[in-house]
Amino acid sequence: MHIVFAASECVPYVKTGGLADVVGAVPREVVSLGHRATVYLPYYRQVRERAPEKAVAIHSLTIPFQYYNRFSAILDGGVHDGVQFYFVDCPEMFDRESLYATQTGDYPDNWERFGLFSRAVLEAAKQLGVPDIFHAHDWQTSMIPVYLRTIYYFDPALRNAGTVLTIHNAGYQGWFPPQTTERLLLPWEIFTMDRVEHYDTFNFLKGGIVYSDAITTVSRKYAEEIQTPEFGEKLDGVLRTRAADLHGILNGVDYKEWDPATDHNIAAHYTPENLEGKKECRRDLLHAFGAEHVADETPVLGIVSRFATQKGFDLIAQIAPRLLSGDVFLIALGTGEPYYEGLFRTIQNQYHGTASIKIAYDSILAHKVEAGADIFLMPSRYEPCGLNQIYSMKYGTVPVVHATGGLDDTVDEWDAATQVGSGFKFMNQTADDFYSALERALEVFRNDKKSWVQIMRNGMAKSYTWQKPAKEYVDVYQQVARRRS
Ligand code: ADP
Repeated sequence: MHIVFAASECVPYVKTGGLADVVGAVPREVVSLGHRATVYLPYYRQVRERAPEKAVAIHSLTIPFQYYNRFSAILDGGVHDGVQFYFVDCPEMFDRESLYATQTGDYPDNWERFGLFSRAVLEAAKQLGVPDIFHAHDWQTSMIPVYLRTIYYFDPALRNAGTVLTIHNAGYQGWFPPQTTERLLLPWEIFTMDRVEHYDTFNFLKGGIVYSDAITTVSRKYAEEIQTPEFGEKLDGVLRTRAADLHGILNGVDYKEWDPATDHNIAAHYTPENLEGKKECRRDLLHAFGAEHVADETPVLGIVSRFATQKGFDLIAQIAPRLLSGDVFLIALGTGEPYYEGLFRTIQNQYHGTASIKIAYDSILAHKVEAGADIFLMPSRYEPCGLNQIYSMKYGTVPVVHATGGLDDTVDEWDAATQVGSGFKFMNQTADDFYSALERALEVFRNDKKSWVQIMRNGMAKSYTWQKPAKEYVDVYQQVARRRS
């Protein structure tokens, strides 16, 4: 089979979140399973800086809009690990300071930027290779299935191609004014409640959900959750109508980058058999956060995250008076919404003896936190998959998490009787529940070192490589391809 991955991010070219890791990894694995994979990305300024002066694959594609045409070239990004990369080059759309937004908000023409990108992928594929499956990711490429099943319906070149949409985070949907329908040259007939209309907006993600042959999301639990009003971000209704075609496929991680036995970003290496090096990593982390005074017996709690509402850090603020007046030390690394940056700054000011916060995006420090902390905190309100809890288990840094989405699928509650479990979970997203899970962890850390080492080793023994999820994606592609042939 030939799969075209169309996405707004992909490592190593451009990344703001977990989506980029998935699009970086799955095509490679799909190739190693004997299939053909092509990735299309917007030629953002950030991509150009990484991959300048690319050969031209198509000089000019005409992308029509309501009153004008735009033109886009397709650049050949070459073949890497068997995966063909193409970049959609339209400088007035993509040669910008950031990907989606500036400090003042989202780019108002995001509908046009990603509408153009989606249509350019379809047009380019007709010349460079029509796949069996177009695999779209999140709202940014959701117009691919919409176009394909509406204004491209009778295109003989494309009509047998199947579509799969992966939802990496249902919180971001791409809402635009109703007029977007005609601006994208789509028929008004699709601006209805059962298609792209959503509370009187044109909703990209909803269109993708309605028109794709199959939908996947990044954990089994999140696939269930988004069908409920609590987590569905008002798309639960339409997702329930697609329940038979909705699959939860847990993300893998890249252990070439995230393994304490080989990680070149950390102060010392260690393995489940020999944990000695973790002490050195802890010292190094405390040094990096100006906290050399922290005693060996004091548990170090780590956070690495986007500071976004989704991540549930209000709970940290709520438990701070109880937690940070005791014998613990909190280290947090993150950037994001000004409100949460402020919240962490306040914690730092109020508890400077027991907390050290860095408002930064720093990959090396992220590795140091994973390796050097004793406990990793993820009180997320919702978490489609989550990577940091998976990394932290590999680094013997015991996660304390809200039992939601991928956090629930990957972390097992410690059970002292059976000595099974890799972390601590809380069911309700409340300060008391969070605090009590943390107390359970601290109790074992302080009073039962043998069990603590067992929890660490249980986590380190877990393996979330990309092989299994890649096979599951191929199964979905095959089901869709069979249905369309
Ligand atoms: P999300 O995609 O919602 O941001 P994930 O847990 O799936 O959450 O992925 C987050 C990724 O971004 C991880 O690889 C994490 O290490 C990285 N990350 C997040 N914030 C920072 C930061 N401030 N510095 C370095 N890496 C970060």
